[in-house]
Amino acid sequence: MRVSITCLLVFQCCIFLPAVRADDVKKTDAYTRIKASIDAVPAVNTHDHLRPFEQIGHRDRTEHGEGITLRSIWAGSYFPWIHPLEPWPEDGSFDTWWSKARHNFANARATSFYRYLLPAFRDLYGVDFDTITAEQARALNERIFENYKTDQWLKEVITKRANIELMVIDAHWARLDFTTHYPFTVALCNVTSLVRGFHPSEFNNPLDDPYAFAARHEIEIDSLDDYVSVLDRVLETAREAGAICMKNTLAYLRTLQFENVSKERAAEIFGRPRKELTARDIKDFEDFIMWRLAELSAKHDLPLQIHTGQARIQGSNPMLLVDLIEANPKTKFVLFHGGFPWVGETGVIAMRCRNVWIDSVWLPTLSYTMARRAYQEWLEAVPSNRIMWGSDTGTAEGIYGATEFTRRCLAEALAEKVIRGELCEKDALRIGRQIMRENALELFPQLKKRLWRK
Ligand SMILES: [Zn+2]
Repeated sequence: MRVSITCLLVFQCCIFLPAVRADDVKKTDAYTRIKASIDAVPAVNTHDHLRPFEQIGHRDRTEHGEGITLRSIWAGSYFPWIHPLEPWPEDGSFDTWWSKARHNFANARATSFYRYLLPAFRDLYGVDFDTITAEQARALNERIFENYKTDQWLKEVITKRANIELMVIDAHWARLDFTTHYPFTVALCNVTSLVRGFHPSEFNNPLDDPYAFAARHEIEIDSLDDYVSVLDRVLETAREAGAICMKNTLAYLRTLQFENVSKERAAEIFGRPRKELTARDIKDFEDFIMWRLAELSAKHDLPLQIHTGQARIQGSNPMLLVDLIEANPKTKFVLFHGGFPWVGETGVIAMRCRNVWIDSVWLPTLSYTMARRAYQEWLEAVPSNRIMWGSDTGTAEGIYGATEFTRRCLAEALAEKVIRGELCEKDALRIGRQIMRENALELFPQLKKRLWRK
């Protein structure tokens, strides 16, 4: 009898109590104050992929013409990386699409690749996507379509609603073009393809081709020395054009283990097309160039952002970079994505090496819980002026969602520390401002000239 009363009580609790636990930090006054303070920081976003407005992708052919739809927003997000997403239908009808697509979200409800977009739907459109009805989805789609008829929406969401003052754009579609397309964006130099410059046949995009760059600048490349001189010139040009750092995403293509290969060995490989080379030859050449790029990073004072973690996971553990990092103490290395899932490894590297910064870019979007834990662990092991953030996406909704997700995650991490008595609230507020803004301005001082808020 006693057991059944207990069961009944448990059942009643499940039914009638709101889904809020007393230990939810978001319900505390400390969280509310810290979150409000972090929200008020005009953010400096160290990494994003916002394209020129006309090139923002995944436009659909609808009954009202071509444009950005609700599907475009999901298609341009990280959601399809792990979940199915129904293609746009032949008849161009939203209702046809939604009748199938609404089932795509069933297994996504807890994933961060789904949840990071929810703040955008809630705050910008007043819609709870978890409980969205067909009618609400149709109205949401119409509003999105309307919003993307000009670039005004994009600018308003980024600078006002997401409160971003500056964002650094990794134009991986035009790596050696340093043009900026918005008043609030800043260029970088993506060096990913430069490592494979052993032969001109490696390149087919003139905006990503060091040989085309050399031709434009009337430089001849006849030797390995010539090629390294071109890299020097690329970085000099990038810096003059306003680029503030270098970036590579080699972790998607190969291991992050870069050995210190001799110049003689690299010279044997240079000038030969891929079909004449072994996998070992190619790796040795890439390794040699990566070490030169690390040196040039110091020479031009362009910190080197490196994608670590979640990519080609057999070789993307940031620990693989330690030899390169230790051998180049004057180079400022920025380890991206907190090395997800190797956030502890990233912390110890930054703890041991003063030339390493941690960028939490993308981490809350990958796993909100791991990001919250990582902020706390890093703040215990690494000085608070060496942690940054970025939104790493490409639509107004994606940028808003990733930014709000990060502000919330950081506020939770800091509030928990304050509540546990591990951090004074005034220091938590200062650290929030450092991570969202000040640390980027300290690492990339050229950004100070680009600030535009009064
Ligand atoms: Zn990115």
